[in-house]
Amino acid sequence: MKFQPKASHFINGEYVEDTNGAPIDVIFPATGEIIARLHSATAEVIEQALNSAKVAQREWAALSGTERGRVLRRAADIMRERNRELSILETHDTGKPLQETLVADATSGADALEYFGGLAASLTGEHIPLGGGDFVYTIREALGVCVGIGAWNYPTQIACWKGAPALACGNAMVFKPSETTPLSALKVAELLIEAGAPKGIYNVVQGYGDVGASLVTDPRVAKVSLTGSVPTGRKVYAAAAADMKHVTMELGGKSPMIVFGDADIENAVSGAILGNFYSSGQVCSNGTRVFVQKGIKDQFLARLCERLAAAKIGDPLDESVTFGPMVSENQMKIALSYVDKGKAEGAQLVYGGDRIEGDGFYMQPTVFADVTDDMAIAREEIFGPVMSVLDFDTEEEVLARANDTEFGLAAGVFTNDLTRAHRIVAGFEAGTCYINTYNLAPVEAPFGGSKMSGVGRENSKLAINHFSEMKTVYVSMNDVEAPY
Ligand code: NAD
Repeated sequence: MKFQPKASHFINGEYVEDTNGAPIDVIFPATGEIIARLHSATAEVIEQALNSAKVAQREWAALSGTERGRVLRRAADIMRERNRELSILETHDTGKPLQETLVADATSGADALEYFGGLAASLTGEHIPLGGGDFVYTIREALGVCVGIGAWNYPTQIACWKGAPALACGNAMVFKPSETTPLSALKVAELLIEAGAPKGIYNVVQGYGDVGASLVTDPRVAKVSLTGSVPTGRKVYAAAAADMKHVTMELGGKSPMIVFGDADIENAVSGAILGNFYSSGQVCSNGTRVFVQKGIKDQFLARLCERLAAAKIGDPLDESVTFGPMVSENQMKIALSYVDKGKAEGAQLVYGGDRIEGDGFYMQPTVFADVTDDMAIAREEIFGPVMSVLDFDTEEEVLARANDTEFGLAAGVFTNDLTRAHRIVAGFEAGTCYINTYNLAPVEAPFGGSKMSGVGRENSKLAINHFSEMKTVYVSMNDVEAPY
């Protein structure tokens, strides 16, 4: 098999296998070919991973921030040097076009390793004078063993967005990739060792939800960071709460994108394309409810369809291909079932809508117009290339409708009216907002959701607070006064 790793798991600096675990077939979504067979972690494997992380964490936390940062920055360099090789692997694992993986996966992972590597040496507490010579100082401490659980759309990026800040703060991580895309996290673990990381501070165990659940409930684990759907988030958050564990939840969305009549139409169409069809629509922050002001609706739809016709659908390994298969047959069927729902609910199919015949899991980029707020395609996360276009008249009306959702991951507005843009953003109930652009997630900026879309933030300096805690130390320079 083309991409068979040495073994399923990576623990304490080595590949580890236990074939008693349930099999996990890794499928290349463009052809349906099995490219690797792995095994889900058994209780013994989970035990080994948590034990080695627990031991390694103490030594890792005892290093200076500069030393930890150096390892992460070296890992970033190695990752960039191997970008092509890692991107080819990511394309096989996810089906995303190589044109995308070359710029958005290992490169984004390397950015996180570099950024948090750079921050590691500056992670300190503070000195707080209390008067009379007394003072308080705070010590920023690692949490201990952190568990990362990933989704399948950005496997390398997720492995690094969680691992890099965790390690920078002196934690160890046990990472469980999605069972659909298990390969690239093993490479992240390998190259961290190559960069000089001590064995055991970044272990990878494979498995289905049950493995994730065992990790979350283990008493050795101090924190859980999940990227996944809202239903999984609910379960993981509740399980972690039983032991008062720290959590970060990066969950789903049904984000609005508002296009006002005065917007630059070409930019708005570009934003809508990026926010609906990049990675075949499998992006959590996608702006899948596109509200277009009535006067420009026909122009917007005409230009959108014209540009969609220029998408090159095909072999994701061909670098000129811009639209690839979906990650799995199951995900494709889910997206196609929403196309049926959209038609049944009376939305107007203006582009695509069909499966592309063949062995791969391809469907056409799909656009519905005349979508109303109550339709399933406007309310539920599809996680596929299905865009809903909704009409609106006024600013007040569209903002209320944009916020009328349980989700709050992202939201965007296209307008040339500066004050309106900021007014709208101030009113958005969403963690990540965009003005005249969409779907950027640079490591320097906080990323995450409000409402049901998440808890906590990834990236930026804020992520440090989610992977460390403060110890407060009161120091008296005076006699202690007691009443008796
Ligand atoms: P999922 O919720 O099915 O699975 C996510 C991960 O959780 C997988 O690794 C899975 O094995 C694990 N898991 C499942 N049940 C578990 C349990 N009971 N305990 C512990 N772990 C468990 O999600 P998915 O289908 O892999 O990914 C798609 C979803 O992820 C979408 O909803 C998407 O919006 C979301 N997502 C969010 C972000 C973000 O940053 N907000 C990024 C990417 C994807």
